[in-house]
Amino acid sequence: MSRFLYTKKNIIEFTPVLSGVKICVILRISSRSTSCKYRCLYNTACYRHGKVGNMRTDILIVGTGCSGLYAALHLPQDKSVTLITKSDVESSDSYLAQGGMCVLKDESDYEAYFEDTMKAGHYENDEKSVEIMIRSSQDVVKDLISYGVDFQKEEDGSLAYTKEGAHSQKRILFHKDITGQEITSHLYEEAKKRSNITILEYTCLMDLVCENNVCRAAEVVYSDGTTERIYADYIMLATGGIGGRFRHSTNYRHLTGDAIALAEKYGIKCKNLDYIQIHPTTLYSDNTGERSFLISESVRGEGALLYNKNMERFVDELLPRDLLTKAIYEQMEKDGTDYVWEDLRPIPPQELEEHFPNIVAHCLNMGYDVEKECIPVVPAQHYFMGGIEVDHESRTSMDRLYAIGETACNGVHGKNRLASNSLLESLVFAKRAALDIGKKIETRAKLP
Ligand SMILES: Cc1cc2nc3c(=O)[nH]c(=O)nc-3n(C[C@H](O)[C@H](O)[C@H](O)COP(=O)(O)OP(=O)(O)OC[C@H]3O[C@@H](n4cnc5c(N)ncnc54)[C@H](O)[C@@H]3O)c2cc1C
Repeated sequence: MSRFLYTKKNIIEFTPVLSGVKICVILRISSRSTSCKYRCLYNTACYRHGKVGNMRTDILIVGTGCSGLYAALHLPQDKSVTLITKSDVESSDSYLAQGGMCVLKDESDYEAYFEDTMKAGHYENDEKSVEIMIRSSQDVVKDLISYGVDFQKEEDGSLAYTKEGAHSQKRILFHKDITGQEITSHLYEEAKKRSNITILEYTCLMDLVCENNVCRAAEVVYSDGTTERIYADYIMLATGGIGGRFRHSTNYRHLTGDAIALAEKYGIKCKNLDYIQIHPTTLYSDNTGERSFLISESVRGEGALLYNKNMERFVDELLPRDLLTKAIYEQMEKDGTDYVWEDLRPIPPQELEEHFPNIVAHCLNMGYDVEKECIPVVPAQHYFMGGIEVDHESRTSMDRLYAIGETACNGVHGKNRLASNSLLESLVFAKRAALDIGKKIETRAKLP
């Protein structure tokens, strides 16, 4: 399996999980945060000794990334919705997405988009999920635009599309190189307008309360160490990825797969836990305590090249992520280096500054002028294709419990995610979960 290919250079903490029998051995709840302050405040001792209170909400959503926020916006507005996040709202991977979000441009691209997604996923994808995602994409884009999301436009005012590795067509919507921030900040703004939505920051899910395979409540710890049991009719787990478990990862350090650990604890079905995507190109740094900075795939889509230590090309830069990662690791092994070189100079300077201002600025900050020199890049853990197993409405195997976003596995990505499919997948299946809950509430209300 691909997982063993990468252990040498990257996977440190996760290796025992991948090669072990049960994921619960390592995936304990961890509330590690980016700052020391919150690391201390969220320790387990506080949780154990803090005061326990009770609270009630109609629907509880754990996680305020794009999936949690978008789900909240599609739940019935006469129901109370509470979202909690372990950190502040802006500290989610959704804010970090650079490249963009795929969309079905028009019917003529359906077959090609479907095939690209399946091919990247090694044909292990759930075909129905892929179809749902692609067919729902225009609807999601309409919603986002209605919230004020500003995707890049052509001169004639039509939407502009870019391309990334393993895409046969340009079909990715973007906003500079901060698409995730543009989308998620508008979802957040919209959520703030809704009187039925409450967001609790620095509030960490520690446990679930489950009876006879029905999820009743969640136990959370606040930043002052006090705890509360939050009862809800429905709970949605939207806790994102698992990158905080790895030495090199593009994810926020506090994303540590907490919901997966709870799924394991309560026998909630999980799937493909060893399908972990490594991003081929992150800026190399000696400091392994920091999140790895991603050099987006779109940069290669727009012409950036990869070189070995002799400044020679060694690979097709537009290979799917897993194959490109493999080729880079092999080259590093051959060269005896900790990185390869990426050359952004084939991209015209104006295009670089307009399309990738964040990458240009970050590299400059780290001492690299991408218009004049190559940058060292290395693969890092990036995305989790597996997760809590869900159906097409994002229902888990436990009653009243849903999982959405990167925490969930509906099989869309198969063994390997096609670039820029995850924001879309998160949004599409978050909305389906919310609408499913809405229907259930309506049905229950009609009962005598
Ligand atoms: C650097 C980078 C670039 C990317 N670029 C792209 C791209 O261009 N296109 C694309 O489609 N995808 C991209 N992705 C992937 C995409 O951003 C994510 O898959 C997606 O945003 C996940 O959204 P989410 O809502 O599932 O989780 P997240 O946005 O990660 O949110 C998780 C939330 O859960 C909370 N949480 C976690 N554990 C707990 C707990 N125990 N208690 C309470 N709260 C908890 C966190 O605080 C956070 O609020 C990128 C990812 C990274 C890291």
